[in-house]
Amino acid sequence: MGKIEFTAENVMKCLCSTCPVQATSDCVKGKMKKIQEMMAEDVDIATMIEPTDVPGVYCASGKATCSDLYFHEECKCVECPVFKENELMKGEPMGYFCRDGAAK
Ligand code: SF4
Ligand code: SF4
Repeated sequence: MGKIEFTAENVMKCLCSTCPVQATSDCVKGKMKKIQEMMAEDVDIATMIEPTDVPGVYCASGKATCSDLYFHEECKCVECPVFKENELMKGEPMGYFCRDGAAK
């Protein structure tokens, strides 16, 4: 268990959806579409789907299950409120949680 909780609140704050590392991933696009459909139906996504179904909050859930991410682009985590509030700059890994696993 990492130090960040997988909550709907953190899903909303997470910047992974705007990150260039994921921008070209068809796998991520498919997951996003599924989530948007669930949100349109007003479901509490944190209770209805598995963390691995959400292409974000990797600081909580660990490495991405999508394998088509492009890690040469820059991680957005340093700009994220979850990153700042939890002082993840002091932890490990320092961003790129989708590649390197959950924050410790
Ligand atoms: S720190 Fe990174 S992985 Fe964690 S919620 Fe923010 S943008 Fe998402
Ligand atoms: S963890 Fe960092 S690199 Fe990975 S998708 Fe989120 S913002 Fe981008």
